[in-house]
Amino acid sequence: MKATEIKLRGLGVSDGTKAGKAFVYKPFSFADVVEGKADNPDTETVRLQEAKAGCVTELNDLIEKAQKTLGEEKATILKGQISFLNDPSFYPPMEKLIANDRVTAETAVLRITNQVAAIFESMPNEYMRERAADVRDVGRRLLSKLVNFQGRQLSDIQEEVIVVADDLTPSDTVQLDKRFVLGFVTRIGGKTSHTAILANSLGIAAVLGLGAGVEEMKDEDLLIINGATGECILRPEQETLAAVQQVMAAEVAEKERLQRFTQAPAMTKDGVRFEIAANIGTPEEAVGLPDKGAEAVGLYRTEFLFMSRSTMPDEETQFKAYKDVAESMQGKPVVVRTLDIGGDKELPYLQTPHELNPFLGYRAIRLCLDQQELFRTQLRAILRASAFGALKVMFPMISGLQEWRQAKAIYDDVRAQLVSEGVTVGEKVELGIMVEIPSAALLARQFAKEVDFFSIGTNDLVQYTVAVDRMNEKVSYLYDYFHPAVIQLIKQVIDASKEAGKWTGMCGSMAGDPLAAPLLAGLGLHEWSMSSASIQKVKEAITKLNKAECEQLVERVLAMDTAEQVREALIAFQSKS
Ligand code: PEP
Ligand code: MG
Repeated sequence: MKATEIKLRGLGVSDGTKAGKAFVYKPFSFADVVEGKADNPDTETVRLQEAKAGCVTELNDLIEKAQKTLGEEKATILKGQISFLNDPSFYPPMEKLIANDRVTAETAVLRITNQVAAIFESMPNEYMRERAADVRDVGRRLLSKLVNFQGRQLSDIQEEVIVVADDLTPSDTVQLDKRFVLGFVTRIGGKTSHTAILANSLGIAAVLGLGAGVEEMKDEDLLIINGATGECILRPEQETLAAVQQVMAAEVAEKERLQRFTQAPAMTKDGVRFEIAANIGTPEEAVGLPDKGAEAVGLYRTEFLFMSRSTMPDEETQFKAYKDVAESMQGKPVVVRTLDIGGDKELPYLQTPHELNPFLGYRAIRLCLDQQELFRTQLRAILRASAFGALKVMFPMISGLQEWRQAKAIYDDVRAQLVSEGVTVGEKVELGIMVEIPSAALLARQFAKEVDFFSIGTNDLVQYTVAVDRMNEKVSYLYDYFHPAVIQLIKQVIDASKEAGKWTGMCGSMAGDPLAAPLLAGLGLHEWSMSSASIQKVKEAITKLNKAECEQLVERVLAMDTAEQVREALIAFQSKS
């Protein structure tokens, strides 16, 4: 009988086209739990305590396994689960519920897990909403201990498959053997979910948020996924499969071809060299980064450390994270950005008032200058970690000199305090600002006299220059870093830093776009920081350039009126080189 293929579409979060058999993973479900009253609450409390102890042992075993075979990155995620288990807002309310309402241990776990997960789910920020999955994961682990659940484990996989699941929790992914997993498909999950982050760092193709479509997929079904577009084809017809096999072969060949650029210097044909750096959000992402061709970390978004927890990370926790990054980079520079919270990024444990215009409101450096204890703790942690590598400090969302000077004064004070305590700090820690607000770009000459470096954040610079919300799809047609006004601001910043003998980096997504390479090379951008997946392509683009020709291109581009003209000129330039 001829197969009838089914086309489905989810969110493509990790590149790669793959074809393989589906492995449908169904872990223990909350729906299997029957709620009920307990005859003896004391017995239930003991059962719960034993289940908790069992989970801790199990998690510690998994952590040890992860550290040995799968790397520190996964181990850290599991450590996060142990801290959830020990969180005062999670486990103690379960024992309380058993004692007060005389319910079974299962009922208590189910209700409290749902309550805590619902709090995360109601948060406006996507990243925080996705943390609900971590809470449910810990709850599920407790429940499966209580009911002694014996299901098919991901660690049973012994052949190449595409894993299909409702959601993949952090502890699920720890059990995966990368050699056998061609891809992930999940019913729920977004771009910043742990599954997306892990799929990216493991280089596994992934399509998330497919919705009810996953229910069509059965064990052993043939499945094609495209991790870039989010397309899935279930039970493909022969011709479809043949066409996709050609695409896969081309992808493998392209990957192979790009390999030679990994460790190559980003040097133009006439010998001008640029520094290529990577953006990271977690210490795990820094592991092995030099092997991916990164010469530095140009942006470490520290807010992820704050957002992935239910309580504020203390100085020690932060110190450990920053030191881990410094050590993974083996002496290569690391630009640590201080907390960039607010806007669309909220912290559940930091009460901030609702705002009409959060992107223009109480966020990033504004919040840090107001809540100085928080800022000082972070600066202490970064400065202590600076003894272990080449850390630099960068302040986000600087709008004027007053703000910069205030932040620097606090930094100087924290540093002096540490020195007076006899704590070792880095000898020369450079201090810079993100240029992501037009007012800072316009004042670049003044700033250049005082800062050590600039890093241009095009993601926000476009949003504030063109007055276009970077999250709003309705106006996304206006969101373009090739807008001539944005290019003029970038030029002002680079020129100002050169005149003052300082350097300029770029950590917004423009730096990772090979099409922008001739423009940025012509403008003389010093450090280019991007997602590690873009490094090879950008290095390749740079090696095809001639600096003098790029400078002529810049001259022409600066006279253009629209983003469309700029883009056309860059496409024409690219096709010639
Ligand atoms: C930027 O604004 O360009 C940037 C790199 O920072 P974020 O995307 O974290 O706002
Ligand atoms: Mg920004």
